[in-house]
Amino acid sequence: MIKYCKRCLYPSNHPLNLIIDEHGICSGCRVHEEKNIINWEKKRSQFSNIVKEYKSNSGKNYDCIVPVSGASDSYYILHLVKNIYKMNPLVVTYNKQYNTKLGIRNLANLKDKFDVDVLTLTVDPYIVKKITRHTLRVFGSIYWHCIAGQTVFPVQVATRMKVPLIIWGCHQGLDQTGMFSHHDQVEMTRKYRKEHDLLGFEAEDLIEDIDGLTIQDVSQYIYPDNQEITNVGVRGIYLNNFFRWDSKTQHQLMVKKYDYGSYFQNRTYDTYNNSDCWNYNDLHDYIKFIKFGYSKVVDQVCRDIRLCHISRSKAIDIVNNYIFKKPKNSNLFFNWLGITKNAFNYVMDQHRNKDIWIRDENWNWTLKKDFLVNSYFKYPEEKVEEPILVEGFENNNNKFSSDDDDSYILIGKGC
Ligand SMILES: [Zn+2]
Repeated sequence: MIKYCKRCLYPSNHPLNLIIDEHGICSGCRVHEEKNIINWEKKRSQFSNIVKEYKSNSGKNYDCIVPVSGASDSYYILHLVKNIYKMNPLVVTYNKQYNTKLGIRNLANLKDKFDVDVLTLTVDPYIVKKITRHTLRVFGSIYWHCIAGQTVFPVQVATRMKVPLIIWGCHQGLDQTGMFSHHDQVEMTRKYRKEHDLLGFEAEDLIEDIDGLTIQDVSQYIYPDNQEITNVGVRGIYLNNFFRWDSKTQHQLMVKKYDYGSYFQNRTYDTYNNSDCWNYNDLHDYIKFIKFGYSKVVDQVCRDIRLCHISRSKAIDIVNNYIFKKPKNSNLFFNWLGITKNAFNYVMDQHRNKDIWIRDENWNWTLKKDFLVNSYFKYPEEKVEEPILVEGFENNNNKFSSDDDDSYILIGKGC
């Protein structure tokens, strides 16, 4: 039976190894407690010592690599690395190809405001679709290529260009589920990436299947070998080990300081994260609900309960308000991939979590009664309700965009 944390709303079946203790409090909430007692000044000086070590003395190479997407932590990482700690970063970005107009705009604005060099990888869209057809069928994932690309491109660039330090924003396993303590100072590993980011499958593992994928098709997603990594001394550190992480407060500062753009999304109240993608908080998120019975809005309310931005009871209302909403942008994805809605639904039925879902008398999927009784969900069917907004999560998109361009932008100039 799925249990729920008494303090946040996480379920015990969270895929990032959540543990609920004898007091009914989850490991993520326990590790969060550290945020209020850690001597952050000391942590910041540890960070300062690390970056000093990597500064290019000759000035001929970059000091570090900073991976960005144009949304989420991108601005805040650069704010710290470039403007506070005065490093000279090479910014790298994997083009996920599901780009919104706002995401392209935010990325262009980032180049401008932070005055940095940006290296972008756009993999042949034909190959990306071929891989995505495969991962959709085998793992029920439309996002594997994005995660694989985002987590490997920075490492490939670091080894090729001999820039050993990669600076990431927030470590999800630490911040969400308390898989590590802040004191572990966990760094990037190939193992974590494979097991948790990539659903247990590296790029090489995909080609053994029957879709005609070749090693050339997936070469942009292959992790450099250990020898190459050791030769350059590549390491990846996470800023939330050194700075008290608070996504909402950070984004409010980024809006003020650098004109970061935000917008309302269909399946969550958080206007700041993942606004660069048509799918992340839409179709991809709905798939998460089908597979696990929870979704991104749960991640976000858990984060904001812990940071005291919202109460637990308000969080329950928020989750119920958003989690049942049907995705709005599915047709864009079906057209892009060249599949029908029926084919998609057929595939998703193979990946639907049968411990949570059951067919009703009309052959529609509905949440099982015992699942509902034991959870905080108030109603199983979609209702048309005004979305619940949360103070501090602003939408300033109309400042940057006068029309709704309902298409993926592969490459755009952003202004
Ligand atoms: Zn919790």
